[in-house]
Amino acid sequence: MSTFAPALDGARAEQLREAVHGDLVQPGEPRYDEARRVYNAMHDKRPAAVVRAADAGDVIGTVNFAREQGLLLAVRGGSHSVPGYGTCDDGVVLDLSGMRGVRIDPATRTAWAEGGCTWADVNHATHAFGLATTGGVVSSTGIGGLTTGGGMGHLARRCGLACDNLLSADVVTADGSFVTCTEEQNADLFWALRGGGGNFGVVTSFAYRLHPVADILGGPTFYPLDGDVLRRYRELIAESDDRLGALAVVGLGPPLPFLPERWHGRPLCGVLTCWSGPETQDDKIGARLARLGPIVGQHVGRMPYPVINTLFDELLPAGLFHYWKGTFSRGLPDGAVDAYVEYGATTPSIQSVTVVFPIDGACHRVTPEATAFAYRDADFATALSPTLTTRAECEASMDWVRRFAAALRPHSMEGAYVNFMDQDDQHRVRANYRQNHDRLTMIKRRYDPANLFRLNHNITP
Ligand code: FAD
Repeated sequence: MSTFAPALDGARAEQLREAVHGDLVQPGEPRYDEARRVYNAMHDKRPAAVVRAADAGDVIGTVNFAREQGLLLAVRGGSHSVPGYGTCDDGVVLDLSGMRGVRIDPATRTAWAEGGCTWADVNHATHAFGLATTGGVVSSTGIGGLTTGGGMGHLARRCGLACDNLLSADVVTADGSFVTCTEEQNADLFWALRGGGGNFGVVTSFAYRLHPVADILGGPTFYPLDGDVLRRYRELIAESDDRLGALAVVGLGPPLPFLPERWHGRPLCGVLTCWSGPETQDDKIGARLARLGPIVGQHVGRMPYPVINTLFDELLPAGLFHYWKGTFSRGLPDGAVDAYVEYGATTPSIQSVTVVFPIDGACHRVTPEATAFAYRDADFATALSPTLTTRAECEASMDWVRRFAAALRPHSMEGAYVNFMDQDDQHRVRANYRQNHDRLTMIKRRYDPANLFRLNHNITP
C-alpha cells in the first residue's frame, strides 16, 4: 500500500474531467478521504482518481480512459466487497453510488434499477407496489456486486437467487461499448453476468422480475448454542414450504432489548425468519420455531418486507474491519454442525455472525449450466465473517476463521460462493465456477481480453 497517491498529471486529469459529467475527486482535495473510503476498513487504498459517475456516459468515458491510459480500474456500487475490490492504489475508482434511480412497471412486475443502487433503494421502490425480489439481508449492500455474484437473501428459496430474477442488463464492456443483454440478445454475456461477478463489464442498469411480496412474518429467534437446535433447523428447512426464508445464525448474543442481559455476549444460535406465505399460517411458523429448542429471546412479527433486510444494519455499519470465508454444503452434515458449535463458542465479537443461507427450493430449480452460478446442488451457503472494530483485532481473528473453515472443509463442497470469499481465495476461482469455468473463460476472452476488469474473483482470459 502506498502512503500517498500520485494524482493524474494536469493533462490527463483534464481529459478525464472532460469525459465525465459527474464528479472527479483527486488526491489532495479535502473530500478525497471520504471519496476513497470503502465499507471494509481493512482496505485503506489511495487511488489516483475517483469518478463519481452520473450516468452511463460517465461509465463509458471512465472505462475508455482507464483502458487507454493503462490504469488499474476498480468498480464500486454499494462498496461492500469484503476483499476490497471496489478500490485500488494509484488507479481509477469508478464509483456508481450516484446512479441510484429505480423505475417500476407494476403491470409486468419489472424493476429497472441503476447499477449503483443498494438493496434499500430497490426494496423501498418495489414495496410501494406490493412487490419484491431476492436481495441481500443488509440494506446497504449494493445490487451490483451481489447480483453479479449470484445473490442470496430471505426470498431465495421462494424466488431464486438475485441473478435468477435478472431479466436484462445494460453493460459497458472493456472496449467502451454499451451492450444490452438478455436471454435472447448477447446471451453469452447475460449468462456470464449471472454469477460471474464483475469480470465482464460495468452494469449500468439491471432489470429484475418482481414477485407479489408485501408484508412478511419475520425476525430473530435465539436459542442456546446447541447442535440439536441446528439439526432441528436442518429438518425445518428440509420440510418447509419455499415461502419460508430462515437463515441460521451462530455467534454471540447481541445487546438487544428483547434478549435478556445474561445472554449478551454469550454463545447463541438463532433463526432469522422471513415467512412470505399467508398470515393465517403465522401461528404454525411460530409453533415450529418453538420446537427447535428453548427460546431465550425472540422478536418475530409481521413487518413490511424491506424491514427484515434492515435488522443487521445497525450491527454492521461501514468502517468495521472484516475478513471472510465461505462454504457451500449439501445438507448440514453432523460434522459441520459440530464445527458451528465448537467455533461458534469462540466467536471473536458480537458483529462476527456466522450466517447460514438456505439455497434450496427455487435456487435448485435452475439447472447448473443455465447461469454462471455453478452450485445448484448446494443446500446451504455459509458466510464466516469475523468483523471487528480494529485492524489488529481483525488480524488476530484470521486464524480463528481459517481453522473454522478448515473444520468445515470435510463437510463442504469444493468451491464456495464468490461473494463470501476474501482476496486470498483467488486460487479457488476454478472450483467456485467448476463446470462453468471454461465457458466463463471463453466469454472473458471475448469481452475483456486484456483483463481490464481484474479486481474481482478473477476469470483470467
Ligand atoms: P462493491 O464493493 O461496490 O463491488 C464489489 C464488486 O462487484 C466490484 O469490484 C465489481 O467487480 C462488482 N460490481 C459492483 N457493482 C457492479 C456493477 N454495477 N456492474 C458490474 N460489476 C459491479 N451477499 C449475498 O449474496 N447475500 C447477502 O445477504 C449478503 N449480505 C452481505 C452483508 C454485508 C454486510 C456484506 C459486507 C456483504 C454481504 N454480501 C451478501 C456479500 C455481497 O454480495 C458482496 O460483498 C458484494 O460484492 C457486494 O456488492 P456491492 O455492490 O456492495 O460491492
